[in-house]
Amino acid sequence: MMRAGEITPAELTAAFLDQIERHDGEIAAFLHIRKEEAAEEAARTFVDGDSPGLAGIPTAIKDVLCVEGQPTTCASRYLENYMPIYTATCVRQLQEAGIINLGKTNMDEFAMGSSTENSAFGPTRNPWDVTRVPGGSSGGSAAAVAAGEAVWAVGSDTGGSIRQPAAFCGVVGLKPTYGCVSRYGLVAFASSFDQVGPITRDVADAALALRYLTGKDPLDSTSLEHPEGIRAPEDSDLTGLRVGVVSDLLAGGVDPGVCSSFDAVMEKLESAGARVGEARLPHAEYALPAYYILAPAEASANLARYDGVRYGHRAAGAGDITGMYEQTRREGFGEEVQRRIMLGTYALSSGYYDAYYGQAQKVRTLIVEDFTRAFGHYDLLVSPTTPTTAFRLGEKTGDPLTMYMSDICTIPVNLAGLPAISIPSGLADGLPAGFQMIAPAFRENLLLRAARAAEELIGFDSVSPFIEGRD
Ligand code: GLN
Repeated sequence: MMRAGEITPAELTAAFLDQIERHDGEIAAFLHIRKEEAAEEAARTFVDGDSPGLAGIPTAIKDVLCVEGQPTTCASRYLENYMPIYTATCVRQLQEAGIINLGKTNMDEFAMGSSTENSAFGPTRNPWDVTRVPGGSSGGSAAAVAAGEAVWAVGSDTGGSIRQPAAFCGVVGLKPTYGCVSRYGLVAFASSFDQVGPITRDVADAALALRYLTGKDPLDSTSLEHPEGIRAPEDSDLTGLRVGVVSDLLAGGVDPGVCSSFDAVMEKLESAGARVGEARLPHAEYALPAYYILAPAEASANLARYDGVRYGHRAAGAGDITGMYEQTRREGFGEEVQRRIMLGTYALSSGYYDAYYGQAQKVRTLIVEDFTRAFGHYDLLVSPTTPTTAFRLGEKTGDPLTMYMSDICTIPVNLAGLPAISIPSGLADGLPAGFQMIAPAFRENLLLRAARAAEELIGFDSVSPFIEGRD
């Protein structure tokens, strides 16, 4: 409509800012809203048929990405007043493509969590049922899209943080192959897992957004040019596509509602010509324990930089330098972040290194090999994205291990660095359920084509009560 001159970027942005104004008091998807700035940017933006696909598109950005001159808090007290002096490469690419930046979205502190309840600034609520969590850690981004407060949002996924909230909020979430998107300017949690990706209303939007996020960046030595380039997913039929249902990911128990919506999707894929069979990842049961050694180990090293000296919080009146470090970190970090730092430091300490960290790295290799073998039989692997639909606020905060279990289906994918997308499979007891499709590394185009075809077969209408207009 913008390209055809039927609506201006200013009008579109005003409509989204209006939706934020009306509903974000309740949803709390945003930590920082660029009300005037976004309106001004939109007024200056001109869109015609030659503009990049994202030009003039109101976008929300997870508060884990640095944007020059905008607060970047990672939902942590520690970074409450931090103002970056540079912009993350992937955000700069979006800016060059002409997005309208609406602001920064809420998350679990330093992206550690599955419900956005670990935010130091209060939780986000699920637009489908405000007594429930939106998932996490990119819960603000998923809720913003589901509530119609942004056209799409940027998230990050270390163990499921794009796909799990997308599933809970009835939207699409794509975690790209490790290395596709530069991590420069992404506040580090676990560097060998972290990947930025889009949360959108549909698969075509995910492909469009991903095209502008990817690219090799001299400032991130693990980034590379996508070997295929990201294409718009053309209409494709599923005839002959070999789809493997990963039975080992269902072993921990999946809610009946999620199961039946997943089974219904498999039947639809089959009747559309896909060949659906059972796939095995025999070491998947060790993915969660391996992840909770490796990710905290990397986090404990990455978070050592928060020493009260370089940036962020510094405790007052702490006496000597050791006391200053200790008090600063005690005051700045929430409980879950402190737990991860302690777990990681323990796993890396001499005498335990081989028993924990070294062993977990070997398990990681076994899981990579499991996937390689499974892709010898199947083009794509599938499973429910999460074992349950969105749970109630407070339901799991008392028990970290139960919270960790919400990522049981998504974490193996991050251990292997593979691309995966979560798309809505339907409603289970009135709440969205999602399923994920997993592809071999760098096969994003295959993944997007199949997801687009599946999405059409499912016909899920991702319109939460907040988009319908509750008032
Ligand atoms: N929930 C997982 C964790 O807490 C994954 C988080 C993420 O992907 N950032 O580590």
